[in-house]
Amino acid sequence: MLNLGEDLAQRIRAHAARSYPNECCGALLGRDSAGSREVQDLVTLENFRQDSPRNRFLVRPEDVLRVEKVARERGLDLVGWYHSHPDAPPQPSEFDREHAWPWYSYLIQSVEAAEPQRMASWRLTDDRSRFEAEEIL
Ligand SMILES: [Zn+2]
Repeated sequence: MLNLGEDLAQRIRAHAARSYPNECCGALLGRDSAGSREVQDLVTLENFRQDSPRNRFLVRPEDVLRVEKVARERGLDLVGWYHSHPDAPPQPSEFDREHAWPWYSYLIQSVEAAEPQRMASWRLTDDRSRFEAEEIL
């Protein structure tokens, strides 16, 4: 269960829309306690994959360190990541699965013709074989 407020959902939708036709990406900061996860802030990230910015969401180790530092400064934890799927449904791609880590929430915002569509959140299973849907509240 991912508790995302309407304000933050709106910020993600806006980021996805203005990045179109490229993917946008960012980090989700908040709290996780006993499976109840609440997002309280966002950090937008550049999409560093210049070779294929339309369909390649990649978080680099230095991004993780940078975002963890921001989270600490704000008294929050890094609980997940978001990115957009231009002209595609909010289902994780095989590339997404290969580059994901367990535990984090992976929120995907679909955007078609610069108009935000559905969003969905996913968690990688511990054996990393597949994503499971996470309900967004
Ligand atoms: Zn993706």
